[in-house]
Amino acid sequence: MKFGGTSVEDPAAINRTASIVAGRVTAGRQTVVVVSAMARVTDQLLRAATAAASGDRTGALAISSRLRARHRDTACALIKTPAEASALCNYIEQKFDQLDEILRGLSAILELTPRISDLIVSFGERVSSRIIASAFAEREISAVHVDARDIIITDSQFQKAAPIDALIEKRAAERLRPVLSDGKVPVMGGFIASNEGGITTTLGRGGSDFTGALLGGALAADAIEIWTDVDGIMTSDPRVCPDALRVKTISFEEAAELAYFGAKVLHPATILPAVRKNIPVLVLNSRNPSNEGTRIIPVAPHCRSPFKSIAVKKKLSIIDVVASRMLMTHGYLKAIFEIFDKHQCPVDMVSTSEVSVSLTVDSNDKLPQIAADLSQLADVKYEGKKALVCMVGEDIRGQNGIAAQVFAAIRHINVRMISQGASEINMSFMIEEDDADEAVRSLHAAFFQDPDPSVFDVEARKAAIGS
Ligand code: ASP
Ligand code: MG
Repeated sequence: MKFGGTSVEDPAAINRTASIVAGRVTAGRQTVVVVSAMARVTDQLLRAATAAASGDRTGALAISSRLRARHRDTACALIKTPAEASALCNYIEQKFDQLDEILRGLSAILELTPRISDLIVSFGERVSSRIIASAFAEREISAVHVDARDIIITDSQFQKAAPIDALIEKRAAERLRPVLSDGKVPVMGGFIASNEGGITTTLGRGGSDFTGALLGGALAADAIEIWTDVDGIMTSDPRVCPDALRVKTISFEEAAELAYFGAKVLHPATILPAVRKNIPVLVLNSRNPSNEGTRIIPVAPHCRSPFKSIAVKKKLSIIDVVASRMLMTHGYLKAIFEIFDKHQCPVDMVSTSEVSVSLTVDSNDKLPQIAADLSQLADVKYEGKKALVCMVGEDIRGQNGIAAQVFAAIRHINVRMISQGASEINMSFMIEEDDADEAVRSLHAAFFQDPDPSVFDVEARKAAIGS
């Protein structure tokens, strides 16, 4: 069970989380709990680090002091047993003393390396997991706090380290299995890890889901539960499209596609360790635990509607590379992609014709430099404020007329670029950012008018209409 930042953001949330876990344990399920840092803590730690490294020692220590108080207050509100309360408070004070030492050092050195950044953000998950383990114990869950850095072993690519599966499996077998067999619940932080030399690393932002999936895989779990603050994967963003529906079941491939294209529910890499071992992933809402969430399974269920969900990614730029000077010689695409590689700029979507290549990337400040490099090869134009709309569904494979229906639904909107992946599970196109919400609503109305009740939660919509 993995609980995200909002599921552990304050004493009330931690209490809800404790009762969810208690429910599983009472039902006789062997459970490992992975938690994020409390909501917003990772961002604040990063801000403290940046402040310190730019010489703002006072600013950095002020952020740290607010975080110290927040964790101390949370601990005090949760733990009433005097001995445990003082042990926990000592732990928190000690960790924040260490953090302050590092921030002071950083404000003298004035250089923030990826390695130090990982060390600094690791405090968020280290203290949250320790507090939550105590809170569980206080509520009669026999919790054991485990330092995730002893289990999740990675390479040394700080800030986005790659897990070493064999070592994780070995550590999980040695250090978690015995705790589980004892009927106890290991509680550990997500996101944080260490390299083989014991130096702290992290799995990248949002990486706690990944920790959950890695552990689920290493322990061959029956299920991986990702507890968050939404009812699961939706047919579109409910803030944009009020009649969005919960998707009850979705395939791994579809979920991965959606995650990549901006559905913020899951970390895309979460999918991999689970897929490899055929473990279902459930996305559940800790604020609404009786809701059955979304079940992500290896093979998509049959569904009447061609699409499961519509995702949107904004703040994109389109780059058009027109090879008027250097017509499609071989190695041309390679040369283009080498430039993106050189600037470490990921490309979202590509569309090519005989003379031109259009690419989309996150709008970023490297664009002028990338464009300058590309203009050595061809004529280059780039333009920001674009949005990518991505319609995902395995059932678009082999169905006739889907593209016609999609573009008919948005006939009033100017489409700048189109792509249908070879995997045939997504149909994507680029439009102006300002048209995105309207496009999603039109597409949703066209494709989710009569949703298949075996795949979508139509009950909730009926209830809403009824009330
Ligand atoms: N706390 C980390 C972050 O905010 C990891 C996570 O919550 O998944 O990125
Ligand atoms: Mg998250």
